[in-house]
Amino acid sequence: MAGRNFLFVPGPTNIPDRVTRSMVIAMEDHRSSKFPELTRTLFPDLKRVFGCAEGQVFIFPSSGTGAWEAALANTLSPGDRVLAPRFGQFSHLWIDMMQRLGLDVQVIEVEWGEGAPEDKIGEMLRADNAHRIKGVMVVHNETATGVASDIGAVRRAMDESRHPALLYVDGVSSIASMDFRMTEWRVDLAVAGSQKGLMLPAGLGIVCASEKALAATKTAKCARVFFDFADMQRANVDGYFPYTPSLPLLYGLRTSLDMLFEEGLEQVYARHHRLAAGVREAVGAWGLATCCRHPRWYSDTVTAVMVPEGINGAHVVDVAFRRYNLALGAGLSKVAGKLFRIGHLGDLNEMMLLGALAGTEMAMADVGIGIEFGSGVGAAQDYWRRTDPVPKRRVAHSEVVYASHSTGSINA
Ligand code: PLP
Repeated sequence: MAGRNFLFVPGPTNIPDRVTRSMVIAMEDHRSSKFPELTRTLFPDLKRVFGCAEGQVFIFPSSGTGAWEAALANTLSPGDRVLAPRFGQFSHLWIDMMQRLGLDVQVIEVEWGEGAPEDKIGEMLRADNAHRIKGVMVVHNETATGVASDIGAVRRAMDESRHPALLYVDGVSSIASMDFRMTEWRVDLAVAGSQKGLMLPAGLGIVCASEKALAATKTAKCARVFFDFADMQRANVDGYFPYTPSLPLLYGLRTSLDMLFEEGLEQVYARHHRLAAGVREAVGAWGLATCCRHPRWYSDTVTAVMVPEGINGAHVVDVAFRRYNLALGAGLSKVAGKLFRIGHLGDLNEMMLLGALAGTEMAMADVGIGIEFGSGVGAAQDYWRRTDPVPKRRVAHSEVVYASHSTGSINA
């Protein structure tokens, strides 16, 4: 199909051309004396993105799932009790991994569309007088439902119950796109992947561990080899890895971090926040609801749109892809067919999203959802014009200087 594919799944995200170019490199010796010049910059800069002032960051050649496993296996022992709310496919999969690693998981079942229940977490921790619960695991941004939990509130609930459990947070679809304050929230293990806010291909699983988490590795008995923090620590201290790292991904990471800092992390978060709000305006104008049940949990990186009774959300996704070259996210497991998802994270702006919203309107109409063309697009346009955070971008027409003459030298 001619033209670009419009990639609006909530990861992998669009890779900026500058990042792509920086990954086209000749292979080099990852044991050379020069290699640490690259890697030594990555560790502190990644910690900035995690909002982490202490502890250590680990870069594994894996996807986010590997980073989940690294966080668990390095800090827990088989039979350890952990507490985890389940409110979407990713919290479900993480719980499934915990069970398969032999952990004793106390699952808090939550309606899909709601966030982590900090009150319930606090209540269960208070009831655990013997402090058998070793960890609380929360998915910050549940990509399946477009729900962002309040990690600061989870931390407060843990503090109020005076419980020493470690706090594990999956930030795979939030870190580098949404405000994340690892040290302030005293998150002990935070997990990210390269293919979302970091605007890279999949292939890096990143874990940031607090000092308390690093101390827990000394007694943790879960088996780990490839994901062993200790092996990483021994090599990373000199800027190396215990095995062959993906050089293109590390060079790409250098560029994506540069781009995030050039824009400014605060601006990156504000941009995601504003783009997400515009998408929700569009959904409201279509007369549809989001899966997210309350504004306090609105996600800035993905919106899950409920489809009307009798319509299959997967049909919208398929038609959008086949007819309009637009990739939307499908509903997963429990919400399969009931919704479709618009990913709005990474390297994107209003114009790109307007294309996605226009294509979504066409696909929805094609499958029989009665919407007025332009209603969502118009609502988003209106919102983004009203809320432009960079007033200097608005230039009065009389001030516009552009090449209005077709003759003469541009340098004249
Ligand atoms: N956690 C969340 C919140 C995710 O969105 C995903 C993937 O989309 C994962 C974990 C798993 O990451 P990966 O697919 O990179 O293994």
